[in-house]
Amino acid sequence: MPIYEYRAADPKHACRHCADGFEVMQRISDARLETCPECGANVVRVISAPSLGSSKSSLDDRAKAAGFTKLKRLGKGEYEKQY
Ligand SMILES: [Zn+2]
Repeated sequence: MPIYEYRAADPKHACRHCADGFEVMQRISDARLETCPECGANVVRVISAPSLGSSKSSLDDRAKAAGFTKLKRLGKGEYEKQY
């Protein structure tokens, strides 16, 4: 059975269970979760990216969700917009 990861859609309205994401074992035929089973907050399914370190990607996801733009400094006065 595949394991899906969910995370609170809005970290400001999340409990300890869903704020950093949680894993649920579901059959493929099961409907995806829409709310946290603990607090009822809206959750989104996280698509796992095994090639990325999980802590780094979750930090990036949170920054992205909060509307931050991440810039990578390439050189003097030169930045690459990563998202
Ligand atoms: Zn929750």
